[in-house]
Amino acid sequence: MIIVLSPHASEDAIDQVVARVRETGRDVNVSRGTERLVIGVIGPDAPELQNMFATMPQVESVHRVTKPYKLVSREFQPTDTVIEVGQGVTVGGPQIAVIAGPCSIESEEHIVDTARAVKAAGANILRGGAFKPRTSPYSFRGLGEAGLEHLVAARAATGMPVITELMSVRDIDTVAAHTDIIQIGARNMQNFVLLDEVGHSAKPVMVKRGMSGEIEEWLLAAEYISAKGNPNVMLCERGIRTFETAYRNTFDINAIPLVKELSHLPVIADPSHGTGRWRLVAPIGLAALTAGADGLMIEVHPNPERALSDGAQSLTYAHFAEMMQSVAGIAAAVERTVPEIEATAGAG
Ligand code: PEP
Ligand code: MN
Repeated sequence: MIIVLSPHASEDAIDQVVARVRETGRDVNVSRGTERLVIGVIGPDAPELQNMFATMPQVESVHRVTKPYKLVSREFQPTDTVIEVGQGVTVGGPQIAVIAGPCSIESEEHIVDTARAVKAAGANILRGGAFKPRTSPYSFRGLGEAGLEHLVAARAATGMPVITELMSVRDIDTVAAHTDIIQIGARNMQNFVLLDEVGHSAKPVMVKRGMSGEIEEWLLAAEYISAKGNPNVMLCERGIRTFETAYRNTFDINAIPLVKELSHLPVIADPSHGTGRWRLVAPIGLAALTAGADGLMIEVHPNPERALSDGAQSLTYAHFAEMMQSVAGIAAAVERTVPEIEATAGAG
């Protein structure tokens, strides 16, 4: 941390700041320029200190020179984190992870059928929501525990690892027992109690970016989980709110290369929520892979017109299979591999 004082600060005023810094157990390095007097604080950074020093009348400004997150930073770990999420399925390695499935699990038949179709088209992780965060309390809020049972049936039928959202600390044991990856939704990115709790879990966790979440806040959310001892964290860019109303969210493509630079954690792109419109899903998903995303999360439904949630952004089986052909092309261009494709476009 660097504390900047006015060049006209009296020796007494300077001494007071130095003494205040030393009181916190840190050392100082004073540098006198012609324009400014700068005090370098030597010792661990703590965000609350910034405010404390900034409040002193003789202080002009206080600047942090280190990042507020540590464990998830590239400085801390230069090599990419690779997370094993199921037998032979990894996220963050050379193979692109393809997470696909419906927004909500609607019945056992619905999730098993969708699982088979997305697997045949090249997905290697199945998604499906059982506890759904909905803006209106009158919307379909998911099947809860019964939905989790159906998800497990789809895993048994296809061998795919599964991911589902955890909304409340109350459900952590149940959700963890039925899933391979715990999803923290955009609306819970800063639910710090929930983050602490999944930090104590041994399951991999995917943290979606909050709809108004700054990159730093998002990385700090991941830091919460790592700091509690769970290093298996992946990030998911799912679009942010902007002034634009032509689509549901604005997929922030900049975030992908930036987060890959700042952090060693895998980054998944969710162009379904990132756009809210099925026609935009493939182009934005492909752009995200080009920008360096380690995987995709795509909402797929056997009949989007009848979906109980997010039908407008869901791909049909055929459109998903078509998109996966392009994913293979992009993967080759960025020197990555894709999960095996069993069937060609039109499957299901
Ligand atoms: C979802 O994945 O279905 C979901 C609710 O996403 P988000 O938290 O990004 O809105
Ligand atoms: Mn959804």
